[in-house]
Amino acid sequence: MTWQELETQCRGCLQCELGQTRTNLVFGVGNPEAEVLFIGEGPGEQEDLKGEPFVGRSGQLLDQYLAAVDLDRRKNIYIANMVKCRPPGNRDPKPEEQDRCMVWLKQQVALMQPKIIVCLGRISAQRIISPEFRVTKEHGQFFEANGILRMGTFHPAALLRNPRQKPDALEDFLALQRKIGEICGRTYE
Ligand code: SF4
Repeated sequence: MTWQELETQCRGCLQCELGQTRTNLVFGVGNPEAEVLFIGEGPGEQEDLKGEPFVGRSGQLLDQYLAAVDLDRRKNIYIANMVKCRPPGNRDPKPEEQDRCMVWLKQQVALMQPKIIVCLGRISAQRIISPEFRVTKEHGQFFEANGILRMGTFHPAALLRNPRQKPDALEDFLALQRKIGEICGRTYE
């Protein structure tokens, strides 16, 4: 299956009740041939309206961190969410909704074959790295599983609520930049 075929299939998905209330499905944004995949939890109001992950203030903050380490959501990374449709009223996605939707993310990972996955926020990190993952203690550390390095860092919305964590987040992105240089043999420019 090609990336385009996967996206077309996903866009028609009604496998859970979130499909009934979405404005736009948020499949992801970026370069599916990139070596780094960022994964968030799910779309909020702005993301649902625009059909793109991490827009609005938290998206702008994320873009600033990306730019600081020569990454760009339109060029050399891909950004996706665990859940593709917005839960109404910004409630948390139910476990069964997460389970159904993760099938799409797994197919994205299988096609993309990223070398590094960066989890944005606790929910994503606990699903992708470890159920016991604690962002405040383990952010910026790399864990290997199935040939993919995984790192968790702060969700940009959490950084907007708690700016004291911004220097730690920047360190995580700098560690990511170094890791890209190590394992991909080059830096992104
Ligand atoms: S949230 Fe995921 S599983 Fe549910 S309808 Fe949307 S794409 Fe399908």
